[in-house]
Amino acid sequence: MNNFTFYNPTRLVFGKGVLDQLRSLIPAYGGNNILLVYGGGSIKKSGLYDQVLGHVGPNVHELSGVEPNPRLTTVQRGIDICKKEDIDFILAVGGGSVIDCVKAISIGAKYEGDVWDIITRKAKPTSAVPFGTVLTLAATGSEMNAGSVITNWETQEKYGWSSPLTFPRFSILDPQFTFSVPRNQTIYGMVDIMSHVFEQYFHHGENTQVQDEFCEGILRTVIRTAPKLLENLESYEHRATVLYSGTMALNGILAMGVQGDWATHNIEHAVSAVYDIPHGGGLAILFPNWMEYVLDEGVPRFKRLAVNVFGIDPAGKSDRETAMEGIRAVRSFWSSIGAPSRLADYGIGGDKLEVMADKAMVYGPFGHFKKLDRDDVLAIYRKSL
Ligand code: NAP
Ligand code: FE
Repeated sequence: MNNFTFYNPTRLVFGKGVLDQLRSLIPAYGGNNILLVYGGGSIKKSGLYDQVLGHVGPNVHELSGVEPNPRLTTVQRGIDICKKEDIDFILAVGGGSVIDCVKAISIGAKYEGDVWDIITRKAKPTSAVPFGTVLTLAATGSEMNAGSVITNWETQEKYGWSSPLTFPRFSILDPQFTFSVPRNQTIYGMVDIMSHVFEQYFHHGENTQVQDEFCEGILRTVIRTAPKLLENLESYEHRATVLYSGTMALNGILAMGVQGDWATHNIEHAVSAVYDIPHGGGLAILFPNWMEYVLDEGVPRFKRLAVNVFGIDPAGKSDRETAMEGIRAVRSFWSSIGAPSRLADYGIGGDKLEVMADKAMVYGPFGHFKKLDRDDVLAIYRKSL
């Protein structure tokens, strides 16, 4: 186990009927003149928008229309409102895209230069407008981490970045707000959650028993719950289980003392930068292919996944055969819940693989379980066609 420091200041408020805590939480963090940020209108349809307005006080400005895969132009619109209206608190109401967009706005509003410099890690932020979130979709963990992913659509670049200043002050999670998430987004969300666990489970650390079993527990829980949730999208019990799993998968707890891999997220960001596909859909396609490609870097770890998560009996098989069976189980589980499995499922052919590989390589070779160079990335894209 590596040395580590754990820091996570986000106040997590979870459960039925907890939205009214907005009334005390926003003023507690100095919010008086608020920017409310949301997406393409799902919160108006569900009635959450009206409920939120009932709890936020009279001084509210709005930024709506944050795209899935949030764009730099929308971040800039938010920054302009913050500067013009002297906003002192931002409230994100939505999924990971809205929250990620708010993280960039909160930094950009306090930065004199171009916020893209911060997203591309050329400049370091020094202050941020405080923000909180009301989460409506279980997927990214953005509600309790400092990460954000922003797309510059003009240059077709999509990058993840983070800063200790971009943890939400609080996040309100009522599983009922996720009842209206459509079936496909529910599936993408569960794939993203499992992918976050995989990114941290595939490491070369030693004596990481607690971390590994946390990972396996979350994976088994999502695998067990997914079919039941998809039978009944308005089950409080199953929505709550998946919502909590999503937060736990990427709030830093699984990362303590281990160096995760994170290559597949990088490879996926390059795909959605060019084709604007849903993040979870891209991961469902790419992750099993990454697994097969890197298998020989750590057969015992893949065998462990097969046995401990998918219950595969290793008797009479070589370790490699058991490991391969585990990867096939990931593939077939995701197919069984309706996730895509080939780039062709999104109409993506071979014509831009080189472009995507160049974008993925922008910070040089990456991945910690196996370091990938451009040829490796191209090989994984080709396997995924
Ligand atoms: P999302 O892009 O925020 O939302 C996807 C869609 O779901 C939107 O059309 C949204 O509609 C809809 N939706 C959300 N909540 C809903 C609800 N309760 N009822 C009905 N529809 C609802 O999805 P996401 O998977 O949470 O976020 C994806 C983004 O996060 C990607 O850009 C990805 O790269 C990034 N990401 C970030 C992290 C991180 O740690 N920060 C980690 C992984 C991925 P409306 O727009 O109308 O609300
Ligand atoms: Fe993700």
